Amino acid sequence: MLIGLTGGIGSGKTAAANHFESLGIDIVDADLASRAVVEPGQPALDSIAEHFGPEIIGADGGLDRAQLRKLVFAEESERKWLQRLLHPLISEYLAQQIRESTSTYCLLVNPLLLESGQSQWCKKIIVVDTPLETQIQRTMSRDDNNREQVQSIVNAQMSRDDRLSAADFVLLNDQGIDELNTNVENIHQELVDLCQKQPT
Ligand code: ATP
Repeated sequence: MLIGLTGGIGSGKTAAANHFESLGIDIVDADLASRAVVEPGQPALDSIAEHFGPEIIGADGGLDRAQLRKLVFAEESERKWLQRLLHPLISEYLAQQIRESTSTYCLLVNPLLLESGQSQWCKKIIVVDTPLETQIQRTMSRDDNNREQVQSIVNAQMSRDDRLSAADFVLLNDQGIDELNTNVENIHQELVDLCQKQPT
């Protein structure tokens, strides 16, 4: 059974996923997949270099992500080109990992789970929910960004209410790590029970 986990920037998706993993659950991470498909040796990296020119490859032979971000940010058609190239590859990469999962259920972690349509692959959706001020403070200290930078990312993301309206489980992360872990364990238990009732 596939379960999706999402939430806004700095809401605690990684912290939560780490605890699901310690409970024996396989984690499939969409951010890692989007990096894996453009690693050196992957055909997508050659296509990107052909399209944008060899300057897009850094001195270490890897993709210059900052440069690519600038190019696609400036030009909508380039962004669309890149999405058309990468989305099927990322989907296939994720699907493969999901097929290989052997845990009671498999957790797909994606900040853009709802926007990407991948939520349709999932039996249930968990939304990590953190009060805005806590989310901003934690992200500022993790990324060494100022309030304005974090706020502008939050503003560009799906609203908290829209995300919550898609949730089957709300994973509250408004206190310490111990409380987060307890909330993870409670949802985990419900999911294990669900898998026993409706094995797929
Ligand atoms: P992103 O979408 O930006 O990748 P995320 O949702 O994965 O973020 P995390 O990286 O898990 O969020 O958490 C953001 C920061 O807040 C991290 O530094 C993490 O250690 C910290 N954090 C998360 N939950 C808690 C908590 N309950 N108490 C204290 N710190 C926390």
